[in-house]
Amino acid sequence: MKQSLLFVPTLKDAPKDAEVKSHKLMARSGLIKQTASGIYTYLPLGNRVMKNIERIIREEHDKRGCSELLMPAIQPRDLWEESGRWGEYGPELMRLKDRKDRDFCLGPTHEEVITHVVRDHINSYKKLPLALYQIQTKYRDELRPRFGLMRGREFVMKDLYTFHDHEDDLEKWYKLISETYRIIFKRCGLETKIVSSDTGQIGGSQADEFMVMSEVGEDTISYCDTCEYAANKEFSGLAAGDACPECVKGTIKEAKGIEVGNIFKLGTKYSTSMNAYFTDKDGQSKPLIMGCYGLGVSRTMMAAVEQHSDDNSIVWPEEIAPFDVHILPLKVDDEETIAASDAIYKELSGSKEVLIDDRPERPGIKFKDADLIGIPYRIIIGKDIKDGKVEFINRYTGEKKLVETTEISRLF
Ligand code: ATP
Ligand code: MG
Repeated sequence: MKQSLLFVPTLKDAPKDAEVKSHKLMARSGLIKQTASGIYTYLPLGNRVMKNIERIIREEHDKRGCSELLMPAIQPRDLWEESGRWGEYGPELMRLKDRKDRDFCLGPTHEEVITHVVRDHINSYKKLPLALYQIQTKYRDELRPRFGLMRGREFVMKDLYTFHDHEDDLEKWYKLISETYRIIFKRCGLETKIVSSDTGQIGGSQADEFMVMSEVGEDTISYCDTCEYAANKEFSGLAAGDACPECVKGTIKEAKGIEVGNIFKLGTKYSTSMNAYFTDKDGQSKPLIMGCYGLGVSRTMMAAVEQHSDDNSIVWPEEIAPFDVHILPLKVDDEETIAASDAIYKELSGSKEVLIDDRPERPGIKFKDADLIGIPYRIIIGKDIKDGKVEFINRYTGEKKLVETTEISRLF
């Protein structure tokens, strides 16, 4: 792709309201642009990263037997009355009316809709288990939208819902999806800690959060310095220095974390209130046992920037990088430079996503923008091209070397 054709509006200064490094960088790198408070446009580069994260999510869900569907963002009040949440959900729920004065909301989550989708069809244990997910825009009128994509009022979430005839089966899937989440985050360049959490207004019997340990996280995690115990502080009720409730020997420490995922054993909360029953092996009618599993797609992108950057540059984790290789021809009016960069571009394009900075800009500007854009491998076509050589930079290791143009393909 030619950079001259890609819309990458990089900025010298971050917007005034950007408090944390990742928010400043995402705005400066031309990944996102704020449209209204907590509401963002994903610019072409940001959109490419989002699509990569979504691809990883789809691969990992599909291969475990989950199937993708797409539910509406607009949800009717009737379904929320059935579950009892129309009254329970506070001002975070974005409510609206149609021209006939009927009430709707913009979905902050989809337990009601998914229960409505399956309840008329899953009438026998023979049709269970079932795992359905979507990747969709969610709406929550957050009290304090901030930190860019970290706490938006409109954001992208992957939500999966599973249905079971038995608690043991829910337990099995809960473990499977928990491991799936760890793998997805790892592929996105994020190490996560699993912490126990409150089930909140979603309800159910058990919930766990996936946290990326980071100073800018909005959650505080209580963890044991000796055993594996870790819980959201809101839920644990513990303070730093307390004895560990699990191993007793250890001491509780505290750290900040970004919640990138949250999984719940819902049990029968929605199936009983919304009348989603099936006939079991013994001929008895029982409510479906449910699990739900949320993953913040846009927040994951933000967390990846926070973890893989310094003040003026990003180095994207390999699998989510917007491009793999960035070619920087320094003098675009020099024939030899253009011939070499075109040839390298053609050679690599078959197997890699390549961006070529064909803009007639000064080298200083190209380097600054390239650091912000954050592509992991860089090929600079400078004055050594007269000897048939270009500079190759591996931005993960910082290694720089001059290589013959004929050897480029062997570098990958
Ligand atoms: P939080 O405690 O951060 O408000 P939550 O517990 O209400 O989040 P869930 O309902 O568990 O969120 O949503 C699943 C995932 O969606 C979260 O783990 C998070 O990654 C993401 N998410 C939730 N709210 C937002 C938001 N306002 N902006 C961006 N991502 C969000
Ligand atoms: Mg949560």
